[in-house]
Amino acid sequence: MHDAPTRNEALALVARGVSLNETARRTGVQRSTIRAWMSAPEPVPRECFRCLGLHPAAARAYTALLGFYLGDGCVSRFRRHTTLRISCDATLPGIIADVSSLVAAVRPSGGAFHVRAPGVIVVSANWKHWPCLFPQHGPGRKHERTIALETWQREVVEAHPADFLRGLFHSDGCRARNWATRVVAGERRRYDYPRWQFTNRSDDIRDLCCWALDLVDVPWRRSGRWVVSVSRREAVGRLDALIGPKT
Ligand SMILES: [Zn+2]
Repeated sequence: MHDAPTRNEALALVARGVSLNETARRTGVQRSTIRAWMSAPEPVPRECFRCLGLHPAAARAYTALLGFYLGDGCVSRFRRHTTLRISCDATLPGIIADVSSLVAAVRPSGGAFHVRAPGVIVVSANWKHWPCLFPQHGPGRKHERTIALETWQREVVEAHPADFLRGLFHSDGCRARNWATRVVAGERRRYDYPRWQFTNRSDDIRDLCCWALDLVDVPWRRSGRWVVSVSRREAVGRLDALIGPKT
C-alpha cells in the first residue's frame, strides 16, 4: 500500500508529462499501480457516511448534532472551505464540550475549534462534507425558509430520538422552574413546577421537535407563538432522564 502523498506525487509527475517509466523510477511505485491510479476516480474521504452511502457509524452523535444544528447552527460555504458553526452559551461548559465531541465523532479527521464572541462560544469546524450531512443549509435564516428532513435523516432520528431532542433542547430549550403556593390543611405551602420549553421561530423546526417528542411519548403543548412546552410532572421527569440537564 502506498500513502496519499506518494500517490499524489506520482500523479503530479504524470500530469507534468513525465513518462510512466521515469515516474515509477522516481517514486518507487510499479507502473501498473500508477496506471490504475490514473484511471481511478478521486478517493472519497472515508469519513463522510453520506458520500459512502453507508449507515452512519456515528449515527447517535450525528443525530444529536442535527438537533444542535437546527437549534443554533449554520453551515457556510466560503471560497476555500465550508464551515459548520454551532453557537453555544459561554456559561454552559457542559454543552460546549458535548457539541465539540459530537463534531469530533462525526468528523474523525479533526476536532472543532472555538471562536469567542460576547456571551457565546462558537464551536466550529471546516469540512467540505457538512452540506452532505446538513442538506438544510441555504441562504437566509432558517425560519424564513422551509426546513424538511430527508428520508435518511428521519430514519436516524427515529432510531435515536432522545439524542435529537438533546440537541434541540440544549440549544433552543430551557428548563424553567415555576412555583406556586397552595393552602393545604390550613397551611400555605410552596410547590415547584419545573418545565421544559423549546423556543424557535421556525414552524418547521418546532414541528420536528413535537414529532420527536411524540416518538418518545412525551406529551407537549404549544404555549406561545414560538414555544413548545413540556410541563406535566411525569413528562418533565421523562424528558430529564432522556436528555440530561443543560449545564
Ligand atoms: Zn460527503
